[in-house]
Amino acid sequence: MTSTITVAAPSSTANLGPGFDVFGLAVNAFYDEITLTKKKTKGVKIVTDDDIPKNPDKNTSGLVVKTMIKKFKTKDGIEIKIKKNVPAGFGLGSSAASAAASAVAFDKLYNLGLNENLLVEFAGIGEKASAGSIHYDNVAASVLGGFVIVKTSPLEIIKIKPPSDLRMCIAVPKLKVPKKKTKVSRSVIPKKIDLSSSISNLSNASTIVVGFMNKDSELIGKSIKDVIIEPARKHMIPGFSAVKKNALKAGAFGVTISGAGPSVIAFSKNSKNLEKISQAMTKGFESAKLECQTIICKPSVGAKIKK
Ligand code: ADP
Repeated sequence: MTSTITVAAPSSTANLGPGFDVFGLAVNAFYDEITLTKKKTKGVKIVTDDDIPKNPDKNTSGLVVKTMIKKFKTKDGIEIKIKKNVPAGFGLGSSAASAAASAVAFDKLYNLGLNENLLVEFAGIGEKASAGSIHYDNVAASVLGGFVIVKTSPLEIIKIKPPSDLRMCIAVPKLKVPKKKTKVSRSVIPKKIDLSSSISNLSNASTIVVGFMNKDSELIGKSIKDVIIEPARKHMIPGFSAVKKNALKAGAFGVTISGAGPSVIAFSKNSKNLEKISQAMTKGFESAKLECQTIICKPSVGAKIKK
């Protein structure tokens, strides 16, 4: 009988500009590794060297496992070993990567054979521990890989394989992020929007989907334009406007905030431009006296069972 499983799940970028809370893309920049081990002693115990909550109710991984134990009435205690690699709180789906890996690992540990939508549903519950509410964009990407569209009530995840030449450059500024960053960045977004903004975002969101379907990286990148959320949040990222302007000048098709930020993501194709775009983004953050780490990456295939 299997008593231990390790799963690695990737970082992800949510929204892709106009697809707020609906679009997600798994990116191969970083991976979290979660090991679940059955124990005789009941309850859920988190073991980690990383600076994340150790209380299972406050940890996305712990909350997923507790929920699944309850739902499937399993009798064992579970030890969760968490090896973080996705930096937490930078808009790269860190809490989601842990949640995604945990749902996939639990399913495998008990041979539940859950379908993709159910795996995402359980992983999404974990997000309550970090963001305060359930949301599926990051976890869906991290579980399934590629580009995902979250269709709600009832939950259905639509997955589209990205074009093979799609590349991203992510700039992660060296900023101290508040513990409740996602909650804070949700509080600044407008409660009401005007019709013309809605039309603009709907138009761009639609063409992003077509870009993924037609494997057209340029159309995807050129449609990364958000006139609703980005303008409301950009003041929270020092240097954002310079980073964006520089990256576009260096040849990026489109640039926006990754998830709730503060990372900034530029979309491009497999080309020499990527190094130039990285440097341009670094210079943009420098203009705000900030250092940043840049990562050139591509879409990831999603959570993987390691052993
Ligand atoms: P992001 O998606 O930008 O990484 P989140 O708000 O989703 O940001 O996650 C960061 C917050 O979630 C941090 O405050 C962190 O302490 C908390 N958190 C809870 N559990 C985890 C986990 N397993 N991994 C990472 N962060 C976690």
